Amino acid sequence: MKALLTGGAGFIGSHLAERLLALGHEVQVLDDLSTGSIDNITHLKHAGGFSYTIDSVTNEPLLAEMIDRSDVVFHLAAAVGVKLIVEQPVHTIETNVHGTEVVLKHASKKKKLVCLASTSEVYGKSADIPFREGADVVLGPSAKHRWAYACSKLIDEFLALAYWKEKKLPVVIARLFNTVGPRQTGQYGMVLPTFVRQALAGHPITVFGDGTQSRSFTDVSDVVDALIALSLEPRAIGNVYNIGNTGEISIRDLAERVRTLAGSQSPIRFVPYDEAYEAGFEDMPRRVPDLSRLRSLIGYEPKVALDEIIRRVIEHFRAA
Ligand code: UDP
Repeated sequence: MKALLTGGAGFIGSHLAERLLALGHEVQVLDDLSTGSIDNITHLKHAGGFSYTIDSVTNEPLLAEMIDRSDVVFHLAAAVGVKLIVEQPVHTIETNVHGTEVVLKHASKKKKLVCLASTSEVYGKSADIPFREGADVVLGPSAKHRWAYACSKLIDEFLALAYWKEKKLPVVIARLFNTVGPRQTGQYGMVLPTFVRQALAGHPITVFGDGTQSRSFTDVSDVVDALIALSLEPRAIGNVYNIGNTGEISIRDLAERVRTLAGSQSPIRFVPYDEAYEAGFEDMPRRVPDLSRLRSLIGYEPKVALDEIIRRVIEHFRAA
C-alpha cells in the first residue's frame, strides 16, 4: 500500500513508518514537528519508498496532493500529552478538531481509507472496567481543561463516522491505550519516559497523587502491528477498536518497577495533582481495555509485557 502518515515524525508515527517500510509498503510522512522530531525519522530518510514533508495538515493544497498519491491515510497528527493539553487548551482543541476535519474532507474527495488514531482518554472517568468500545463515556466539566482532549478526539470520532455514514468514506477508528516505547519523550508529561529519565539520573521519581491510579501500558510495536492489520481488514471499516494491553499496574508500582529494572537508588516523591498540573485537576483512577472486538477481528494479542517494555525504554535512554 501507499500510506500517508500525518504526524509521521512523532513517536508512534515513526514506528509505524518503520514497520510499513519493512513490510514493503510506501510511506509519505507529513509532520509540522510541533511535538514530533526529525530525529525520529532520520534513519528512514534513505529507505526506498520513503518520503517526508515538513508542513502542517492545514496546508490544504499540499495535503490534497499527498492524499492523491496514497491509498490509505493514517491520521496521527494531534496535540498529545496531558501536560500540553492543560497548558495549551486552545492549541489542543484547534489542532485536533481542525486537523481531522481537513484530512477527512480531502480523503473523502478521493474515497481514500482513513485510519484515525483516537485515545482511551475518551472513556474518561467511567468506572465500567474494562472499557468496551460501545460503552458510555464519562467526562468531567468543561471548566476542567483536561477533558478538552477527550472531547476533541470524540468530535474527531463522530466526524469520521459521519463521513462513513453520509459519504461512504471508509474510516477505521483506533483508541490507543497508553502507548509507550523507545523515542517517546517525557517532555509532554508522559509517565514512563519521565520515570525512566528520573531513575537513570538518580533524581526523585515523581508520582502524582497517591499513585493508586492505574494504567495498562502497550508497547508501540504491538500498536503499529494492530494499526496495519486494521487498515488491511475491510470488515474494520466504519468501526471503533481498542488497541491496548490488559496488564494493569498502579503508578506507584510502576515507579518501583522502573527503579528496580534501572538499578536505581532514586527516592519516590509524591506530588499533589494541584502542583503537578493545576488546581482541581481530575485524573482517571483506572484504565483497562476490553480487547475482544480487536481479538476476534484480527486475532490481536499484545506480544510485549510490561517488564520488557520498561527494559526497552531504559535501553533507549541509556543509548541516547
Ligand atoms: N504521572 C505521574 N508522574 C509523572 C507523570 C505522570 O505520576 O511524572 C501519572 C499521571 O498523573 C497519570 C499516569 O501517570 O495518572 C499516566 O500519565 P500520562 O500522562 O503518561 O498518561 P494519561 O494516562 O494520563 O494520559
